Amino acid sequence: MILMKKKVLKKTNKNKIAFAKMHKKARKNATAFIDKSKTKINKEIAKRNVAKKTAKGKTNKRVFIENSTGNLLVWSGYIGLGILITAVLVLVSGSAKNLKTKAASNDNANPQFQEKEKPVHIVKSTEIEPFDFTKVDLEKIEFNKKLPILMYHYIEPIDPSQSRLRQNLTVSPEKFEEQMKWLSENGFTTMTLTDYFSKIAEGKELPAKPVLLTFDDGYRNFYLNAAPILNKYSQKATTFIISGSVGYPAYMTWDMIRELYKQGYEFGSHSVSHANLKSLKESKLEEELQDSKWEIEKEIGGPVNFMCYPSGFFDSRVINATRTAQYKGAVTTGSGMDVSNKNIFEMYRYRISDGMGIDRFAWTVNQAYQ
Ligand SMILES: [Zn+2]
Repeated sequence: MILMKKKVLKKTNKNKIAFAKMHKKARKNATAFIDKSKTKINKEIAKRNVAKKTAKGKTNKRVFIENSTGNLLVWSGYIGLGILITAVLVLVSGSAKNLKTKAASNDNANPQFQEKEKPVHIVKSTEIEPFDFTKVDLEKIEFNKKLPILMYHYIEPIDPSQSRLRQNLTVSPEKFEEQMKWLSENGFTTMTLTDYFSKIAEGKELPAKPVLLTFDDGYRNFYLNAAPILNKYSQKATTFIISGSVGYPAYMTWDMIRELYKQGYEFGSHSVSHANLKSLKESKLEEELQDSKWEIEKEIGGPVNFMCYPSGFFDSRVINATRTAQYKGAVTTGSGMDVSNKNIFEMYRYRISDGMGIDRFAWTVNQAYQ
């Protein structure tokens, strides 16, 4: 680990100059990303309207055919009755002709059928303006919630040959699946941090019993072991990336991160080198916060909104620097569930361990919703 940190630091210094250029590009990319999203949403809405129109046309066609058949059957019955009663063949054929015309005119009068011709409502661009979370200041929005944010590190089988610390940071895939299954069967909604706080910022109603799943460090076993289970139960999660570690054997590659980002996973920053931010001088602190944010944004082509302080080290100076680096908030390793605009840069989380049974897990997440 120390060797890896050294490697990462060396790599960071080397890339200092390259980063300066990259920042400029990253800002450009962020703007392009927002513009691109808007165009994409407009296109999606137009596509949906066309699909709706086609579906409506198909339904009306079916209703018309069913109505015609139904009417014909009914009237055929009348005709048969007419034959028996009057026994006048000429009259019967005359009536049948007359009735057939009637049936057709009935269908034309069918309001459902006529609806086909109604103009489709065209959504104006002002109506679908996407909500821009990057412009939100969560500290200025009054809110106070009970929210369980769960903290995970490694999702892999417990290896007794590993250090005690590593084992304590590990949850086996079996235990993890048991927990995800329990959440989905007990009415909880997992969300990314951005999903949750976008709803708060927009003043929108929150889903039932939100739970936020967070994974620190960006280990490769998140991609290999956690994501398949999360996908199986349609769960959402946020992973905090150490930008300088991406691509190392134990960590995810940018390709893996991009793949998961496209699936709806959120990526936050966990600094460039997992340094103790409290111990850093101003310029280095700024670099750890900003460079990691910009690099992840550049690689995924989307915004990085939240920070996770490495090893939970932070103070008011670190908070200020995080705010200045344009993050919306940050998570710590402290335990609790109260989150408000007053502590958005020092949010609590619950550490989930392999040793905790499902009852203890249930008790932990249930606390917020008693
Ligand atoms: Zn960490």
